[in-house]
Amino acid sequence: MVTTHNLGFPRIGKKRELKFSVENYWRREITQDALLDIAGHLRQQHWQQQAMLDLIPVGDFSFYDQVLDTSFMVGNIPERLHNIDDNENELDNYFRVARGRAFATEAECSCIQAGEMTKWFDTNYHYIVPEFDKNTAFSLNSQRLLDQVAEAKQQGVSVKPVIIGPVTYLWLGKAKDDTDKLALLDDLILVYAQLFRELEATGVEWVQIDEPILVLELPQAWQHALNKAYYDLQRTPLKLLLATYFGQLQENLKLACDLPVDGLHIDTINAQEEVAKIIDWLPQYKIISLGVVNGRNIWKTDLTATLAWLKPLHERLQERLWLAPSCSLLHVPVDLANEQKLDSDIRSWLAFALQKLDEINILARALNEGEAVVANALEENATAIKSRKASMRVHDHVVKERQAAITDAMGNRQSAFAQREKIQKAIFNLPLYPTTTIGSFPQTSEIRQARRDFKAGELSADAYQLAMQAEIKRCVHEQESLDLDVFVHGEPERNDMVEYFGEQLTGYAFSQFGWVQSYGSRCVKPPILYGDISRPHAMTVEWINYAQSLTDKPMKGMLTGPVTILNWSFVRDDQPRAETCLQLALAIRDEVLDLEKAGIRIIQIDEAALREGLPLRKAQWKTYLDWAVKAFRITANGVADETQIHTHMCYSEFNDIIAAIAAMDADVITIETSRSDMELLDVFDEFHYPNGIGPGVYDIHSPNIPSVDSMVTLMKQASQRIPAERLWVNPDCGLKTRQWDEVKPALVNMVRASQQLNAL
Ligand code: GLN
Ligand code: ZN
Repeated sequence: MVTTHNLGFPRIGKKRELKFSVENYWRREITQDALLDIAGHLRQQHWQQQAMLDLIPVGDFSFYDQVLDTSFMVGNIPERLHNIDDNENELDNYFRVARGRAFATEAECSCIQAGEMTKWFDTNYHYIVPEFDKNTAFSLNSQRLLDQVAEAKQQGVSVKPVIIGPVTYLWLGKAKDDTDKLALLDDLILVYAQLFRELEATGVEWVQIDEPILVLELPQAWQHALNKAYYDLQRTPLKLLLATYFGQLQENLKLACDLPVDGLHIDTINAQEEVAKIIDWLPQYKIISLGVVNGRNIWKTDLTATLAWLKPLHERLQERLWLAPSCSLLHVPVDLANEQKLDSDIRSWLAFALQKLDEINILARALNEGEAVVANALEENATAIKSRKASMRVHDHVVKERQAAITDAMGNRQSAFAQREKIQKAIFNLPLYPTTTIGSFPQTSEIRQARRDFKAGELSADAYQLAMQAEIKRCVHEQESLDLDVFVHGEPERNDMVEYFGEQLTGYAFSQFGWVQSYGSRCVKPPILYGDISRPHAMTVEWINYAQSLTDKPMKGMLTGPVTILNWSFVRDDQPRAETCLQLALAIRDEVLDLEKAGIRIIQIDEAALREGLPLRKAQWKTYLDWAVKAFRITANGVADETQIHTHMCYSEFNDIIAAIAAMDADVITIETSRSDMELLDVFDEFHYPNGIGPGVYDIHSPNIPSVDSMVTLMKQASQRIPAERLWVNPDCGLKTRQWDEVKPALVNMVRASQQLNAL
């Protein structure tokens, strides 16, 4: 018999119940008991929804983040928590580490610096980075996990506790001093050994222990650490299922197969080619869990094809074969059944978390009991797969022909930067250190309301247009009085920089409840890119034209780039991402050219998410960067020399990718730097960035108003690396999350800073 299980379930709830209750708790609108109660109900519901599986994950529930849960479990809590008065309650302390404070209204003395947050591998889920230093000592605090195991057992759940492995935990953390993280391993292993004893006492049989770092390029010392950890832990009578996901094992394959555990889970969406080798290598006593249903995307699995692949494996492995999603289902929405508005064709192609578990179940039953028992389900699945493959909604031959006709020349500007720079300087006649902003201005509640009303059909198109125009006018007037050099229209009509474009492109669909946790209580609802992409109408030209009509200053056209649109969507899996990206590039290129035709002389194409799309393994970076840069060039570079192309990126860790950024050949790039005292510009010591650059001098993530002096100092630092003729002065990112009364004085200072620099 094949065993079915799941690696983790989304915890936010079908309708984001957890998000709303946690936020209510932070506002002190509900008590802690009420919050715990809601959490218990959610867990119960989630276990019931997984009841068809043989083993159900327990411990995957979290109030904020599972890595932070692990930090609390191993007693690795930052020192600074001890310095506050009110540190009795564990959950409150947990929120303090997560976000600086437990309650919105909390007194300053109960606030601490929040833990750093970063992305979980190559997903859009963020975790709180564990902190280590010379005082780090671990001690087991297993109550949360044991309570949940007991709670699940009481409900008759067949429990499989899920924990993050010790080596991945250390890898993900950050040493705050010169502590060698691996020197902490022995200590940490003792804590895990004790945890295993306690879990054993509860009567559970299997424990899932996640070591996803096995898919990364690991230094030898870390490979040794994995060996050491699992040899030291092998005395436990618990059965350990070592879980890897998100990639291939490659050079770690033998290591992963040989570790003294009882089973290995691999992500066959990403590592199908390795399965044969793994089975050959895996000792006979171990089980192998195949993650055959994609835990990262929302498409139905082709069950017939998967079954055909699984059958011979099953014959060989028999009960050693387990089936699961490729990774935790944390990365997909909960239930497709909630979606009432999706087009029925498209809906029939999708599977959210619950539907994915059904798929696992169907596959297992087909293997265990024969295909006949699930004939209807298989048939239905085959129909959906076939309909998607052949659908006219997916395939548009005009798009495919255009794509096939793309030439390299389309990605080249007419002249090199030096030549364009001269031409553009003559046209725009800007001062040195020209000032501009990144695109959005504060989004007031009135603007949001107008957008909502218009969408709901409660505001007429005319009234909506007037409301947006009024806001654009306000932005232009503000920029006039601030005396900025290059203007923006302010983006009031955009709810989100990807959704806004997705809504106007064919090939995109939108869910109502397709929420996925991004960090803490924050969820995102990525649009669904299902088909060939085209742009039936201009998307931004009217707004930008209107804005330009109000001023003589150059107005920047404002677009989101193809790589960012791709990286922030659920993307079709029936063609390579690089192909899809090129289709997006053509659509945005059309918009660029329409803006140019309308007389817009400066066009900004944001690539906020270019860096986060980098593959997990460095060996694959070049391929990604090649197609990403190509897509940007196709988008941007069809314009005349006279048109100035800007791009913007909300980060500054460019060290590894600066050459690729330069290869995009934008005339100007604006980046985030202000928080690091320009330290991040060090990369420009070695690499001579050839084009214009605006290192952000105003940290828009903070309510603080930067002083003139601080900005002058930052720009002077920048001018040591980059010639002043190529420098711009601008904020770090868009201003939409700020208030006007913060933005105005900050920009007044920014303009003064530029004036002072010019007077030097
Ligand atoms: N143009 C966008 C804005 O100003 C850029 C946002 C971003 O980089 N995340 O809001
Ligand atoms: Zn940004």
